[in-house]
Amino acid sequence: MTGFSDLRDNTASDIVLPYSELGNIIDGVARFRADVFPHQQALYSRLAGDGQQPKALVISCSDSRVVPELITQCGPGELFVCRNAGNIVPPYTLTSGGVSAAIEYAVVALGVRDIVVCGHSKCGAMSGLLHPDHLTEMPNVASWLRHAEAARSIVCTAYPADITEAEAIRALALENVSCQLNNLRGHPSVAARLAAGRLTLHGWFFDIKSGTILALDGETGRFTDVENSELPIAHRPSRRLATSGLHAIAAE
Ligand code: ZN
Repeated sequence: MTGFSDLRDNTASDIVLPYSELGNIIDGVARFRADVFPHQQALYSRLAGDGQQPKALVISCSDSRVVPELITQCGPGELFVCRNAGNIVPPYTLTSGGVSAAIEYAVVALGVRDIVVCGHSKCGAMSGLLHPDHLTEMPNVASWLRHAEAARSIVCTAYPADITEAEAIRALALENVSCQLNNLRGHPSVAARLAAGRLTLHGWFFDIKSGTILALDGETGRFTDVENSELPIAHRPSRRLATSGLHAIAAE
């Protein structure tokens, strides 16, 4: 049987060439089965038998340089991950798609107590948000990024007009995390658990060049390095009910 390595060596055919990179990936699958899996067999057996109990839901960008499990050093079964272009959380609607379903499943079925929205530096989605004219051949990307329009509006309106392109894209990524957390709070499953004090929200920013993670402090609205302070929290768990006098109302 011909393996991917055999195909990769046959560079005479234009049809075979596109498989060259995939060959590396398939070789990785083989190495995982031979070298990695045997050392984690007990863990996978437990996960297969007991099911998953992830520590958190992470909503991050699809960017290949941002790997949630790697930057948090989490293993199989520890993170429930939803990735998309621009780490976007569409506002809740009855016709919402995969992101909403992932949120609902993580919160309701798996009972996660923490949700992280993670943006990053040099984000292509943020660049597209800043330059919609670059998206004429990608109508789905353009449409998807409309969910981040609030971030673009903030940067274009509230930031100094003379910031550089690089500064604008970084500011967009940070503001977008904050805006997507706002969208997240409007999902019923999230709103209910926030009100009950059973859910904590985090806004993170991963800097690809330095490997550092900044976290949003909900009190100040600013991002700070997680290694220099206690982990900043975007939305702390505490009961937030609009009334505390339900018994008094019932007695009226
Ligand atoms: Zn990105």
